[in-house]
Amino acid sequence: GHAMTELRLEGVCKHFGGVEAVADLSLAVPRGRITGLIGPNGAGKSTVVNLVTGMLKVSSGRILLGGTEITRDRPEAVARAGVARTFQNIRLLQELSVLDNVVVGFHRHERTGLLENLVGWPSTRREKAAFVARAEALLRRFSMEGDRDRLAGGLSYGHQRRVEMMRALALGPEILLLDEPVAGMNDVEAAELGLIFRELAEEGVGILLIEHNVRFVRALCSHVYVINTGRLIAEGSADAVCSDQAVIDAYLGT
Ligand code: ADP
Ligand code: MG
Repeated sequence: GHAMTELRLEGVCKHFGGVEAVADLSLAVPRGRITGLIGPNGAGKSTVVNLVTGMLKVSSGRILLGGTEITRDRPEAVARAGVARTFQNIRLLQELSVLDNVVVGFHRHERTGLLENLVGWPSTRREKAAFVARAEALLRRFSMEGDRDRLAGGLSYGHQRRVEMMRALALGPEILLLDEPVAGMNDVEAAELGLIFRELAEEGVGILLIEHNVRFVRALCSHVYVINTGRLIAEGSADAVCSDQAVIDAYLGT
């Protein structure tokens, strides 16, 4: 993709019946940086990810990737265009090995259940060997080469999250949407993943980091958007938004 490729939302709205989950939201996720998206529970963060990836349809507004409109693209097309995600609630094939869970990521069928993805399993031995080699490189990057043949379901929570991330990275996305990727991890595990996020950004990936842990966001994000009840209430450097009164009020629930 083009070096300047970025993901952009323009005036995006999403209603669920009477609930305005996302209201007139505009934001940009440039490549080569980590952009934060924070806000209290129910603020609309996961809905943003579901809208971008085509899992939900916008009520109005536009979503662009490198200047090309992807607003109404199906999940497969969005994934093919270079947008990958992880889920707030881990979705792995518990009965398959770590390696096979990563290999699933080579098939961009985000919409269907993971089991259906197995229909697209590599057909030739050569194809399979190439996928395995790339999956093994990802396992090394995430220090999980020793877990290659373990069942995903037997891993610790933090390691299951890593497997999810590897699967999202399998096809080398330009934009990576991480929905609370370090939730439930201790500080050491979170810091390790933070280093990997930085490396990915340095390689040119644009990361949207959704996170509750403001300290973590502060350490990693060059620009932060804060939403509350679907609306943008602040944006700017992490330090600026953290000292913003509207943000403090939103987090304290006043
Ligand atoms: P966050 O990820 O910031 O915690 P969500 O995006 O999950 O927030 O939810 C935002 C709002 O939209 C909440 O009020 C939630 O109940 C509602 N919502 C999210 N998804 C759906 C859905 N599929 N159907 C109906 N309401 C939804
Ligand atoms: Mg959420």
